[in-house]
Amino acid sequence: MTPTEPAVVRLREVLSGVATYIPGRPAAARQGATTYKISSNENPYPPLPSVLDVVARSARSLNRYPDLQCTELSAAIAAHLDVAVESVVTGTGSVGVLGQIVTATCGAGDEVVYPWRSFEAYPIVVQLSGARGVPVPLTPDARHDLPAMSAAVNERTRLVLVCTPNNPTGPAVHADELNRLLKQVPSDVLVVLDEAYVEFVRDPQAPDSLELHRRRPNVVVLRTFSKAYGLAGLRVGYAVAHPSVAEALRKTAVPFGVSTIAQDAAVASLAAGQQLAERVDALVAERERIVAALRAQGWQLPQTQANFVWFPVGDATPELAAAFEQAGLIVRPYGADGVRATIGEPAAGDRLLESAAEFLAHRRASEQ
Ligand SMILES: *Cc1c(COP(=O)(O)O)cnc(C)c1O
Repeated sequence: MTPTEPAVVRLREVLSGVATYIPGRPAAARQGATTYKISSNENPYPPLPSVLDVVARSARSLNRYPDLQCTELSAAIAAHLDVAVESVVTGTGSVGVLGQIVTATCGAGDEVVYPWRSFEAYPIVVQLSGARGVPVPLTPDARHDLPAMSAAVNERTRLVLVCTPNNPTGPAVHADELNRLLKQVPSDVLVVLDEAYVEFVRDPQAPDSLELHRRRPNVVVLRTFSKAYGLAGLRVGYAVAHPSVAEALRKTAVPFGVSTIAQDAAVASLAAGQQLAERVDALVAERERIVAALRAQGWQLPQTQANFVWFPVGDATPELAAAFEQAGLIVRPYGADGVRATIGEPAAGDRLLESAAEFLAHRRASEQ
């Protein structure tokens, strides 16, 4: 039965301004050809057998609630990173942890400074809290404009989000510019370093975020098992924060959010670090192959440090995304800004290169 009375439930007004998260589309079935989903920055490798064994074993205790404190996983993360266990807070993906951070710091009237274009969860999470988002445009080479971000901080600012490497454009911030920002931001404003792709970074100028965390109580490092570790479907991420901040983040967590399977799989993944690091190295090598070939074709690309490449094509975004789709590649278009393509299987990379070359050839032909 469809209700006919007008809605009587009073929803929060902020919801009307909140965009719905648009996920990367799944690969559509195509007659006689493989399609590749390179739209969500997922790891193309399936879980390791050792991780799958642990998952099967954990499944036997699904009648029980998980360990609320994620005791074993937090200890494993602390040991892995050489940080105090009191500084580690787990959550349902790093997006979940970001929600905990915003809930702990922001309310109506507060402001959150973040780069734009960047991770699309930022405006959603910020608006849900009732705080005002202050997006700061990227520089023309698709990097954070850290001086402009510092300048946007005022007495209402509670949080500054730094996405390094930046999703969807790829560059990592550099240690010197980040240090300048940290010196300018008041010490009672939390600065979040969202390092979802840190394992893929090879830029020698990238910051040592854990060192910054040790030196500055207002720095929080956010990491995830979704990308390099290949556990996107299990939803587990974490923050490394000053113990007083970490305690606040535990209060704002959804109780029992991280399942036993997720906790156990993450512990097993840390134990299989060497094998997973080899996969990450292979993806980085594939990224370098793709970027070099695209540049040789004539593409102007920002310096990606993540598992994706960004085509800054402006108004041609829908056209380029459609061309890739014709070739069986589901990519992620962003309005009139550009197209993001994940580094996946080499066969997907080959097809990306072919299709990108054709697109350029057509464009050059039509310009003559
Ligand atoms: C993918 C991604 C995350 C991680 O999301 P999870 O919730 O951990 O799956 C966080 N930040 C950025 C910038 C990302 O691209």
